[in-house]
Formats: sequence, structure tokens, C-alpha cells
Amino acid sequence: MKCPVCGKEAKPTGKEWKFGQFDAKGYKCPACGKSSSAYYKEGKLSHTVPKTK
Ligand SMILES: [Zn+2]
Repeated sequence: MKCPVCGKEAKPTGKEWKFGQFDAKGYKCPACGKSSSAYYKEGKLSHTVPKTK
């Protein structure tokens, strides 16, 4: 998936979890180093949230 911060391709971290009715996956962008979470609903990408740290 695309990094929500810089738009480059982010790599999955392998982390997956449930968030309410969403399936969430962790991503890390090699270009800018930001981590983000992608939320899927019924197999479709719903939204991405950059991690603030
Ligand atoms: Zn990035």
C-alpha cells in the first residue's frame, strides 16, 4: 500500500490485528521511515492512519 505520509510504497510489517469491524495491518515506509496502519473492511482498504510518534 502507499505511504500516507510521502506516497511511496510502504512495506507490511507482518503485524495484523482486529479493530472493531476492521482488519488492521501495520506498514512501514522505507522511504520516510514512518509507520502506519491500514484498516480493511470486508477485504477492502478503508483508510490509513500514520502513526504519530
Ligand atoms: Zn513514506
